[in-house]
Amino acid sequence: MTNYSFETKLLHNTHKVDPSTGGVSVPIHPASTFHQKSIDEFGKYDYSRSANPTREALEEIIASLEGGTRGFAFASGMAAISTAFLLLSQGDHVIISEDVYGGTYRMITQVLSRYGIEHTFVDMTNLESVEEAIQPNTKVFYVETPSNPLLKVTDIQAISKLAKQHGALTFVDNTFLTPYLQQPLLLGADLVLHSATKFLSGHSDVVAGLAVVKDEGLGERLGFLQNSFGAVLGVQDAWLVMRGIKTLSVRIQQSSSSTLKIAEFLAEHPFVKQVYYPGLSSHPQYALSNKQTNGPGAVLSFELKNGQVFRTFVEQVKIPVFAVSLGAVESILSYPAKMSHAAMPEGEREKRGITNCLLRLSVGLEHPEDLIQDFSQALKAGQGDRLTVPLPL
Ligand SMILES: *Cc1c(COP(=O)(O)O)cnc(C)c1O
Repeated sequence: MTNYSFETKLLHNTHKVDPSTGGVSVPIHPASTFHQKSIDEFGKYDYSRSANPTREALEEIIASLEGGTRGFAFASGMAAISTAFLLLSQGDHVIISEDVYGGTYRMITQVLSRYGIEHTFVDMTNLESVEEAIQPNTKVFYVETPSNPLLKVTDIQAISKLAKQHGALTFVDNTFLTPYLQQPLLLGADLVLHSATKFLSGHSDVVAGLAVVKDEGLGERLGFLQNSFGAVLGVQDAWLVMRGIKTLSVRIQQSSSSTLKIAEFLAEHPFVKQVYYPGLSSHPQYALSNKQTNGPGAVLSFELKNGQVFRTFVEQVKIPVFAVSLGAVESILSYPAKMSHAAMPEGEREKRGITNCLLRLSVGLEHPEDLIQDFSQALKAGQGDRLTVPLPL
């Protein structure tokens, strides 16, 4: 089994066939409780918050894809992240990527702070500033790479090493790349987190979260917290995530190849101030991205030249849905300032480069030329009447 390539493992894993019927799809077990044969002998399952066969199948699949020993499925990405933070205690300190997902920012600044858990935001691409932020009570290094929405790439191996030297754990939010493109546990991280709502499911039709660990003791602790906090994933949703995972590699391959084409188009365009995509050789961590991943993924961000171009572009662009979220079969254009990062005060956003003219694009499965043509016409419209010299579009 372990000798298969990743693509094959997506389909041919221990849950390929239901052992009791031969069914080629994991059965959905809606039971909340399980009959026990006797006082002395309890079965493997007793109550579905603690363990459920359908959820367990997904947990085993994600653990194997991430190269971990145990997986956990939660009701959302934030439920997975929040439960992982429960590993911390009052007085502990977290070092965290500064342009982290808005919901994670909210959890750490507005919830965990009330429980006496401290944090320092740092630019994780700068190892010196990470080292400077270390305190005697630092217990977790929280990394999002590539980061959201500026696609900064953090050296997972270097951070994990630093964390180990200080007796701290490394958590990595792997939502943007999935284990198909990046396997943080193999680079030394302790805990991998996912919003499975995104690429893993891939069809904008389920909200789910996953966590995977390598160390069995850490797995015991996280399993205890999953059961205690109780934010588990429902069985219908677990089944949808498993179905999505089967096509992960083909979806990501197609979308990533289109993303590079679009990034190149945007980078050349006079109305685009900046493109953030680790697949462009101009990206500051291009070499690191090539080293630690199997590809730069299917999300890019770009900043338009000014407010007029920005507004017209959003009004005129036709193919992508204009929405929060990412990682779906349809392209999704988002406005971080008002969507994913609305929980971040404007000053904090601007400091991080999340300006009011920044857009994030998650590339779906449309033909890339259709997307490029669409963007081209929407940018051209932004030229308006004010420019007297026509730009070569
Ligand atoms: C969406 C997202 C989350 C939160 O996941 P939900 O499923 O929406 O709760 C966390 N991290 C990243 C990088 C995300 O994109």
